[in-house]
Amino acid sequence: MKLDNIIYFDNASTTRVDPRVLEVFNNTHETYFANPSSIHGEGQKSFYLFSRSKEEILNLLNLKESEVIYLSGATEANNLAIKGSALRYKNRGNHIITSLYEHPSVIEAIEQLKKEFGFSVTYLSPNKEGIITSEMVEEAITDKTILVSIMAVNNEIGAINPISDIALAIKKYPKVLFHVDACQAIGKLEKEIDYKDVDLLTISAHKIHGLVGYGALIKKKRIELLPLNSGGGQENGYRSGTEDLAGALSLKKALEISLKEEKEHYRIVNELANRLLSYLNDKNDLFELNLPSKINPYIINFSSLTKKGSVIVEALSNNGIMVSSVSACHSSKEKGSYVVKSLGKSDLVSNNTIRVSFDYTNTLEEVDIFISALDKIIGEIR
Ligand code: PMP
Repeated sequence: MKLDNIIYFDNASTTRVDPRVLEVFNNTHETYFANPSSIHGEGQKSFYLFSRSKEEILNLLNLKESEVIYLSGATEANNLAIKGSALRYKNRGNHIITSLYEHPSVIEAIEQLKKEFGFSVTYLSPNKEGIITSEMVEEAITDKTILVSIMAVNNEIGAINPISDIALAIKKYPKVLFHVDACQAIGKLEKEIDYKDVDLLTISAHKIHGLVGYGALIKKKRIELLPLNSGGGQENGYRSGTEDLAGALSLKKALEISLKEEKEHYRIVNELANRLLSYLNDKNDLFELNLPSKINPYIINFSSLTKKGSVIVEALSNNGIMVSSVSACHSSKEKGSYVVKSLGKSDLVSNNTIRVSFDYTNTLEEVDIFISALDKIIGEIR
């Protein structure tokens, strides 16, 4: 993406809003501003569009038995899915299964259940390929298990987990719900995942060129959740507060575009990743790749073996190139990447990670500029 000579390779943190999405957002605010819960004609028009956007999202994802709850993003969706289901079904058991490399909004929600409500937790480590398998999940299930939360694509190393297989395995245990944080997966894969057997699915708009502050939890209709906020009972009681029609329609638009253009976007991003990977592989005395066996071209993570990762990220930034060291949501208390650490990597490697996250708006020319800048920086800093 060309932004006044800035090269933006931090698209797993957030993407630039698509003008087509912004247009929907602005038009809706201008035209359909009435409160969808008002019973007058304008309110009812808003309500109709609001409800229809939910149906359209379910159609886009082929999830007919589900319902959409619009929320402020993936963090809120993960919290509602995890705390809302665990607290609602705590009479059935108190065991939760997750992985060591989930996003903090999953890990911290589960830790809260553990500390404050006495839940017990099994943290699965990714295998040698960097993924969580259905066998690993099934082995961890006990007669106390009520919830499994495994992300579709990891936000730091890009690992793509076999979500359909895990969902099928969990289906054999009627008491166990399956939550998937799919916000790095939707619209960003060679082939979209089939989420039909997933009970609770998290999506976020700003990872797919939607607006920051919008996301949704998509849940199977038969599942109940304990609402985390109380109020006027909007969103079937799951998320009180005035419905945000412009946000809803803009999220739907972002999803529609990202799914429709997914294959072409993947093709572009794959070329970018291959160019960078061939450079990094040539320089394996300087860099170590932190990637799953099946590489996801959207996220390329590597560590500097000779210089501090954070110093390189800063030097790149001074050259107008934006990349991350650890995920932007990562707690500042932590020194390195717990995600890379979960792959069994040393402290040297996990403390010096660099994440390049591509987007279809990036170009090969930008990758070449990045490579030259990195080469120069590595030679210069002491
Ligand atoms: N889950 C994952 C996997 C993410 O990458 C992120 C964003 N870094 C989130 C959750 C949080 O998303 P949001 O900003 O929409 O709350």
